[in-house]
Amino acid sequence: MNLISTQTPTAELQALDAAHHMHPFTDAEGLEAKGARVITRAEGVWLQDSEGHRILDGMAGLWCMNIGYGRDSLAEVAARQMKELPYYNTFFQTTHVPVIALSAKLAELAPGDLNNVFFASSGSEANDTNLRLVRRYWQCKGQPERRIVIGRKNGYHGSTMAGASLGGMGGMHVHGGGIIDGIEHINQPNWWSDGGDMSPEDFGLARAKELEDKILEVGPENVAAFIGEPVQGAGGVIVAPDTYWPEIQRIVDKYGILLIADEVICGFGRTGEWFGSTTVGIKPDIMTIAKGLSSGYIPIGGSIVSDEIAQTVGAQGDFNHGYTYSGHPVAAAVALENLRIMEEENLVSYVKNDIGPYLAEKWHSLADHPMVGETKIVGLMASLALTPNKETRASFASDEGTIGFMTRERCFANDLIMRHVGDRMIIAPPLVITREEVDELIVRARKSLDEAYEQVKEQGLF
Ligand code: PMP
Repeated sequence: MNLISTQTPTAELQALDAAHHMHPFTDAEGLEAKGARVITRAEGVWLQDSEGHRILDGMAGLWCMNIGYGRDSLAEVAARQMKELPYYNTFFQTTHVPVIALSAKLAELAPGDLNNVFFASSGSEANDTNLRLVRRYWQCKGQPERRIVIGRKNGYHGSTMAGASLGGMGGMHVHGGGIIDGIEHINQPNWWSDGGDMSPEDFGLARAKELEDKILEVGPENVAAFIGEPVQGAGGVIVAPDTYWPEIQRIVDKYGILLIADEVICGFGRTGEWFGSTTVGIKPDIMTIAKGLSSGYIPIGGSIVSDEIAQTVGAQGDFNHGYTYSGHPVAAAVALENLRIMEEENLVSYVKNDIGPYLAEKWHSLADHPMVGETKIVGLMASLALTPNKETRASFASDEGTIGFMTRERCFANDLIMRHVGDRMIIAPPLVITREEVDELIVRARKSLDEAYEQVKEQGLF
């Protein structure tokens, strides 16, 4: 085989990719016909592909590239750590300096008594930990029947068996033989699609109340925890009405049920606070973290756990759980450097007080587009609903996602990464994006919407 590099012709790279690489969440045949886009370099918010396109990454990779691409110091820290101690585990009463430093830092950043970190290499793994940990906690409390975890339809918690089961993506449940036992789902707080004639406030309360109904249906004595993303990300950047989270908090408190906030997307500044839980005003017992923890420079995730849970489980011998790469020293060192940069550059307050409000104004300005219904934004995660009728909040006559996909394709052609979830368009750019880059993002988004609108009209779908 020839040596492969970024100089290899794109067609050759695409052919090899199609022949040997199984892509996540991808229609393999469709991709093979089209050829994958080969990304070769990146800097700041800009990607470059093998054909020389300069692409604005409106999704921060997969919502992870918080500090922007091309930060040399992360590479330097990784190299230094690899030379000093490339690996050692934290099983069986050993530890190392990077994992100690990162744990202490996370305890400092996390709210309340979330002072204990169990590391994983991804968000999915961390949610696997959470499922086992909350069940173990209730065993330790002498209530082993508390096994049920309640999640939400259209929530996303990962792609492992536990992650996919906790999540509420029907398409994922179908592929892989259903969900594992002891997991239930309630409806999501998506007012635009499901709110009908209710006000957003009433709808938020009604959807939160479904948690109480579910708890009573399965028996409060059987429920271990509720899990939710403070703002649903992969489900389409669904921002719950203001009434929702306070009611969820009231219900979990009333029944003594643990609250797991999945902060994999919302954590580390995305919502304008260090954690989305602070933004929506909840007090979780566990937070799932990944992505922005290392800005995607290296795989790392984890669970930040309350003192009560850590001490209860810790007091009863081994917790028989752990990953070879839990607290990997290179990953921990890189994550620490990422957090150092976030603090040094005040990125969280930049999102809250500067670039977040700036993007919000521009994003909402897209609402005058004939095909755009609601526009939603929290910090630097935003969505808009595509609709043929803003007043009735109607869906298109075409299959769900058709128009979203069309619009996504126009964005691609205009060198903007904007994703679609069904007929919602979503963005979550790197937190370092500048005002000029936001302007550029909006110009490209509007152009793409205009082009998609023309296609939609031509095909008689509007
Ligand atoms: N939870 C949430 C909220 C996520 O958005 C994701 C990934 N998109 C995950 C968990 C899973 O993380 P990973 O892909 O790192 O396993």
